[in-house]
This record gives sequence, C-alpha cells and structure tokens, in this order.
Amino acid sequence: MSTAAELDADLVSYQDHSELTGPFDIVGDVHGCIEELTELLSRLGYQVHDDLTITPPEDRKLIFVGDLADRGPGIPQVFRLVSTAVAEGKAFCVAGNHDTRLAIALRGTPLPLTYGLADSLEQFAEHPPEFAREMAVFIRRLPGHLIFDHCHLLVAHAGLRESLHRVETMQARELAIHGEKTGVRDQFGEIRHPWAAEYGGKPLIVFGHTPVENPVILNNTINVDTGCVFGGRLTALRYPEREFVSVSARRQYYEPTRPFLPNDPRWPKT
Ligand code: MN
Repeated sequence: MSTAAELDADLVSYQDHSELTGPFDIVGDVHGCIEELTELLSRLGYQVHDDLTITPPEDRKLIFVGDLADRGPGIPQVFRLVSTAVAEGKAFCVAGNHDTRLAIALRGTPLPLTYGLADSLEQFAEHPPEFAREMAVFIRRLPGHLIFDHCHLLVAHAGLRESLHRVETMQARELAIHGEKTGVRDQFGEIRHPWAAEYGGKPLIVFGHTPVENPVILNNTINVDTGCVFGGRLTALRYPEREFVSVSARRQYYEPTRPFLPNDPRWPKT
C-alpha cells in the first residue's frame, strides 16, 4: 500500500460495533428534511424534543446512512439532532458524499455551490460560526462504514463491495462514501456502478446514495434512499424486523438529477 493511500490520522474507514445486535432503525438520506425526519422518528416511537434531543423507545438505536446535508430546508437542524444523538450514544451515522463536501466548505475551502451546497452554507450562515466548526469536526469523524450484529449488518452510504469490508484504507473509505465510478455517462451524468447486483457477501448491506421509488432489496442489500428531498419519502428500515416505515415529503424541495417517480400507487402514502 502506498503512503498516499493511507488514511489521514483523523479519518476513519470503518467502525466495528459487532457486539451490538440491535434493534435498529436505519434511516435513508435526510438531506435537510427536518420535518419529515421528526415525523418519521415519531412514527418509530422516538420522542423528539424542542431542543432536538431525542428519547428513543426502549433499547432501539438509530443508524443514519449519511447525506444529512444539502438541498432541504432544515440542514443545520438535522445536523444538530443527529450529532447530539450520536454524542449521547443513541445513534450512529456514516459519512455521505454531500456531508464530506460540506465539511470541506465549512472549513473555508471555496467549492462550487452546486448539488445543494449553497443551501447548506446559507442555512449555516444563520447560526454562530462555532456551530459550523463543530459540525465540520463531527462530519470529518464519521466513518465510511459501520459494522453491527456479529458482522451480519453493514451500513455504508454508497454500499461497499465485500473485498473492502473492514479495510482501513483511504480507498475503502472513499468508495463507501462516493461509490464506484464507471466512467460511463448518459444524458444525466455518470452512471453508477451496479455493485449491489454483483454482491454475494455475508453481511446485509443497508445503504442510500441513489434515490429509488421504493426501497430496493437486491441480493443481500437494501437501498433505503427513497428520495425525500426530491418529493419522495423518508424511509427507515427496522432491523432485525426488516420492516419499512416511510413518511411522505411535504413537498419537492429540489429537482431530481435523474427522472424519479415518487408517486407509485404500489407503495401506500402515509
Ligand atoms: Mn443523497
């Protein structure tokens, strides 16, 4: 392994919580949808208090698949809620590609204000700068993937092929956060590598990153990003029950990058 591939001292590829067997509620890409997140947590039995602290139902913990940032109307509030719950041991969270990009911008590096980053920076500007610094540190410390339940459950924002499970390198971290590049483009942009179609590993992988109409179960993977910020739904997977709980978006906050059909009659709106 080259030196360049090694992780910076404060970056983490994965965290192993194998001894924790659940039950968990695994939440898809939130993208600043604070109202829908609050409603979803209530439906799951969590109390959400005015200061955005939460009281979980007995024994349950939250896991976020990343992409808390960008596009939606309540981005700082979502970070407040999730970072507090993580600090209190009530939640876990992996890094999403939008989150790591926001952390770079919050530390003062100029970036193009694309993909909803402008929304994040505008909303953080309404809060004290210490909060932005605190959240940049929170994001930077998020792992690329998380392992639970004696290796039966793995959570990564963009999924992760089996050869990179429990691998502590920059490549494993980057692929868990950004997914694998194909170099193939269509009219909407680069086509994402269909890693889940090829997956044959032992842990169930729960991920987000690519919005889908309904949760997709493929091989031993489940995509729980049902595109809330694009007018779809915010979905949680209850584990080990393997039940889905979804709430509908209040509205479409952002135009989808690719065609995305949120109103599928097969999936009852709740
Ligand atoms: Mn996303």
